[in-house]
Amino acid sequence: MERQNSEALHSEARVHLVGGVNSPVRAFKSVHGNPVYFQEASGAIVIDVDGNEYVDFVQSWGPLVHGHSHPEIIANIAEAMAKGTSFGAPHEGEIELAKMVKERFPHIDMVRFTSSGTEAAMSAVRLARGVTGRDHIVKFDGCYHGHIDSLLVNSGSGLATFGIASSPGIPDDTISTTLVAPLDDIDALRYLFSEYSGKIAAVLIEPLPANNGLLIQRNEFLRKVKDLCEEDGALLVFDEVISGFRFRSGGYSEVCGVVPDITALGKIIGGGLPVGAYGAREEVMRQLSPLGPVYQAGTLSGNPLAMMAGKSTLALLDEEAYDLLDSLGSMLEKLLVPILEANGNPFRLVRIESLFWFSPGDDEPPRRADQIPGTAGKKYADLHKGMLDRGYMLAPSAYEIGFLSTAHTEEHIRGMAAALEDVLPEIGE
Ligand SMILES: *Cc1c(COP(=O)(O)O)cnc(C)c1O
Repeated sequence: MERQNSEALHSEARVHLVGGVNSPVRAFKSVHGNPVYFQEASGAIVIDVDGNEYVDFVQSWGPLVHGHSHPEIIANIAEAMAKGTSFGAPHEGEIELAKMVKERFPHIDMVRFTSSGTEAAMSAVRLARGVTGRDHIVKFDGCYHGHIDSLLVNSGSGLATFGIASSPGIPDDTISTTLVAPLDDIDALRYLFSEYSGKIAAVLIEPLPANNGLLIQRNEFLRKVKDLCEEDGALLVFDEVISGFRFRSGGYSEVCGVVPDITALGKIIGGGLPVGAYGAREEVMRQLSPLGPVYQAGTLSGNPLAMMAGKSTLALLDEEAYDLLDSLGSMLEKLLVPILEANGNPFRLVRIESLFWFSPGDDEPPRRADQIPGTAGKKYADLHKGMLDRGYMLAPSAYEIGFLSTAHTEEHIRGMAAALEDVLPEIGE
């Protein structure tokens, strides 16, 4: 497969854009390749600037649950666009999308829209701190909440020690109130609550961690996290930016049976336009400006095009859509698992509904970030390249997951399985 035009554009892009990209993982660095420049995309298919077609399992990293340029969503956005691209004033679309969010997240009484998932998670933390009057927050190793200073933190040498910033440019002071715990280890969290009793504003978790592999948690663990929060008066924040709306019931909170205090949303809620949101019960949300003292704002928040994209996307997510996502997911698992087994399980397929991950190694799928084998990168780079050259676009990083959409078909899945069967024997150690 020739990708000369992509390579030429990338050479030019690197002069003007840092690494040629506007979000680091797109640079393909972790799969040792050059990025593919897209020309257009429709349904499950993307076409690159050399005219190559790929079945896309990245789907803009999650938002496109109905595939690229879904005709109904596009038509609705176009109609909204004709009436104005940004009002900077209230409009009916915001009410309608808020109602749709509440229907699927019954523990949310009020919603605030933002323009990204990062903003939603950042604002949820501020709200939790404002409501509790406490400063400390707990995050889990292996969860991602956007590029927020206080959350770009890895665990330090011991639990009681503070974390280490995962990027330069973050003052020690900023992370001095961030505590990092391992996933799937309730004793570690219990220990933090005993050391910092009465000081923790919020515990932030992706209830379905999906940004560092797919680290499916035990419901029991999530329930105990909630119990510890309640006992100490800390708020539980579920970051459902990826997991929100991937499930028939709405959020992963319904799946695991644990109700958080604050929920952060993004990705699907914007249907491919820049949107984030957070919500909670009324008494918590009333602390937010203009009703309460906790400040948060946005020039483009509640943008009419973004609200329309979100509304159209959620309206199309009916029972039938979830049935289809379910059956595509089961089919993926049914076809891929025997192929991986026949090749000595260089990866294990981890799958929940329409999300999947090639977990490196032949052990049981990990639940914690530190259980992911350190050798993940090389083998995955080979897999990625082999699949790409056969017309199947997987995420360009061993730690990123795959996404199915209602635009995928059984034929796409069968084709992917055949490509995998072809690629696996070529994969090095
Ligand atoms: C993608 C993501 C974010 C960040 O959202 P952006 O829109 O990229 O800012 C936050 N949390 C989770 C769980 C995510 O998957």
